[in-house]
Amino acid sequence: MRQIKQKIYQLKSAGKDAFMRVGIGQDSHRFDFDDKEKKLVLGGVIFEGHAPLKGNSDADVILHSITNAISGVTCVNILGEISDKMCFEENIKDSSYYVKEAMKYLGDSRIIHLSISIECKTPKISPKIPEIRKNLSNLLNIPENCIGITATTGEGLTDFGKGLGIQVFSCITVSP
Ligand SMILES: [Zn+2]
Repeated sequence: MRQIKQKIYQLKSAGKDAFMRVGIGQDSHRFDFDDKEKKLVLGGVIFEGHAPLKGNSDADVILHSITNAISGVTCVNILGEISDKMCFEENIKDSSYYVKEAMKYLGDSRIIHLSISIECKTPKISPKIPEIRKNLSNLLNIPENCIGITATTGEGLTDFGKGLGIQVFSCITVSP
């Protein structure tokens, strides 16, 4: 206990956060079955042959939920006013830039873990999980084994489980 108190004192004296922080983020998008041009992108990975998600950007619902989870730690919201400005004024549709924008406000803190929970009927997420983890590992600069991804159809109880869209929750852990 004394060691922990000492550590907290050291961190506080250095003007740093003394505790780990956890952020939760959620996002959901509806499929656009009429759009034959746009691609479905999840966690930066393209899912060929599936209807895309509706949205002004690439509508990457995984990256949006991660952006919100980071905002849950930094208290600076990116999705909304800031991302709209990037999207409409700078024509930035690639959602990885929204994640990077959110990360700017982390300061000296580091993301040490990410847990993602996806709900949808289609596409099948499991075969793409290794590719998504690899992509997120590069984007967030954390090891792949610090990124957990689960997917469920939720027994078809919600509109996501019925195939109308995708919902994602992300939980991010940030060290001082
Ligand atoms: Zn979104």
